[in-house]
Amino acid sequence: MDLSAIMQEFRQEFPFFKSYPECIYLDSAATTHKPQCVIDTIAQAQAQSNANVHRSSYQLAADVTRQYEAIRSRLAHFINAPDSQNIFWAKGATEALNLIAYGLGELCLANHPLWQGNEIIILTSEHHANILPWQQLIQRVNQIRSAYSQNEHIKMLRVTPVSPDKNGDYQYDELYNAISDDTAIIAIAHVSNALGCIHPIENISAKAHQYNALCIVDGTQALAHLNVDVQALGCDAYVGSSHKMFGPTGVGFGYGTDVLLDALPPYQVGGEMIEHVSFTSSRFQSYPHKFEAGTPNIHGVLGLGAAINFVDKHLAYIQRTEENLFTYLLTQLSQIKQVRLLGQGNLHKISLCSMVFVHNGDSLSHYDVLRWLDEANIALRVGHHCAMPLMQHLEVDGTLRVSISAYNCVADIDMFIDVLKSAIDQLIGSHDILINDSLSLASQFNGLQGYENIFRQIMLSSKALPVLDASKHIDAYHVAGCEVDVWLMYTPHNNAFEAFANSKIIRGLLAILLEKANSLTAKERRIFDFSGYLTALGITHHLSQSRVNGLDRVIAKLSA
Ligand code: PLP
Repeated sequence: MDLSAIMQEFRQEFPFFKSYPECIYLDSAATTHKPQCVIDTIAQAQAQSNANVHRSSYQLAADVTRQYEAIRSRLAHFINAPDSQNIFWAKGATEALNLIAYGLGELCLANHPLWQGNEIIILTSEHHANILPWQQLIQRVNQIRSAYSQNEHIKMLRVTPVSPDKNGDYQYDELYNAISDDTAIIAIAHVSNALGCIHPIENISAKAHQYNALCIVDGTQALAHLNVDVQALGCDAYVGSSHKMFGPTGVGFGYGTDVLLDALPPYQVGGEMIEHVSFTSSRFQSYPHKFEAGTPNIHGVLGLGAAINFVDKHLAYIQRTEENLFTYLLTQLSQIKQVRLLGQGNLHKISLCSMVFVHNGDSLSHYDVLRWLDEANIALRVGHHCAMPLMQHLEVDGTLRVSISAYNCVADIDMFIDVLKSAIDQLIGSHDILINDSLSLASQFNGLQGYENIFRQIMLSSKALPVLDASKHIDAYHVAGCEVDVWLMYTPHNNAFEAFANSKIIRGLLAILLEKANSLTAKERRIFDFSGYLTALGITHHLSQSRVNGLDRVIAKLSA
């Protein structure tokens, strides 16, 4: 069979592409599609073998419990954990990280020997799911320490971020040098969801252990792409989400060493995690069951089992195909001079890249680029990718991220590149066209048909925006709740608004609104129907709901 037939056969395992053949899906880092075997497993479990686990002893319930526990062993084998006991189920990576961080906070407060030091090291590029649980831990411990301590010199916990350079590339020596006797934990992704780089976890956990620190790894973006061997990685804990590895949503897992899982207290309490309960005291089961209060996501676990079998069977193919597609994508992107890739210096990467767009020193908004991609049914993500500290560090307001899986094909990339080039050309092209400033902006929409013409006119209108100076892009003038950052300032003495947004499309919409607002008195503005005005110009129905919601926030300020 030739390569394209093999690729086609693999793609056919995913019914999504039959139901939605026109979709070019380049957002697998957000969630992967599900192969038929996963869908069938869940449907069969719901139709034919529905019973609760670990409760009843009749045959069906015992069978389902056996199947469910067999997946724990299957997963342990898949990531080379020593035993199924080292795996606990959770709703996803987020819950597993919260569970571990909560428990470690308790160990810290109890002066448990597993907790040594006062610092948690986190990479700047971590997903919020691997930042916020640690931030909460630090706040809780510090609050309790300061409330109960008589000692003024009590040590407070702190977070130490380690950042990549301004291109998004890590120099790992900086991380190794940051680890010291005062380091309690290093919380790090195996693979960054915003940059795609694979971090050298083996070296990092070895260094952490030299200083008695724990190494907690967020493996969410690794499991669909890499052979994961938690013992070779040497980490103390490793978490993942089923839906990013071809499995269903709502289920994930945590792996922990015996020492860690034994020491961690339960995160939630309730049915099934106990040995004995009375009104005076209760005794909990050992790990992993002490972490699994209540009825678990049984069908989710069974579906994850099918997904693990699927990845295991196809991993070599997945890796080879993703590498070929990714190399092709990078070659194509390198020919578009406005594309600036971030985090490409790290040699070890999965098939994911993040980019921003720059023309003659000015940035082009990825939200504007997205409009063309979305129109062409290309599904991918723009924004901060739940990695806001990274975006702040790189001084960008987000990136456009492409994440490839082995069900993609060369035609997907070709289409993406074609539409991207055309979007960039149109965004740049509208720079050079002069607007007709003898006519009002609104009158130039008269008789315009079709979204291409409307959007072109919106972008041209952006040139007429009364621009708010960059020095005033501050919180006081920030309009919360818009898709992109918008600043709007009113000056009463000349009854005029000025505004700014990084997106050219939003600047155009602001220009149209401000042309009207600045022609009205404050009293007239309060009763004027700005939303109806945009609709009458034929604009609103070409806008996404999130754009409309953002504009509503602007309109609320204009009418205040
Ligand atoms: N960690 C990383 C690196 C991720 O990419 C994500 C999701 O995008 C998460 C954690 C959170 O995963 P979930 O939402 O499935 O809990």
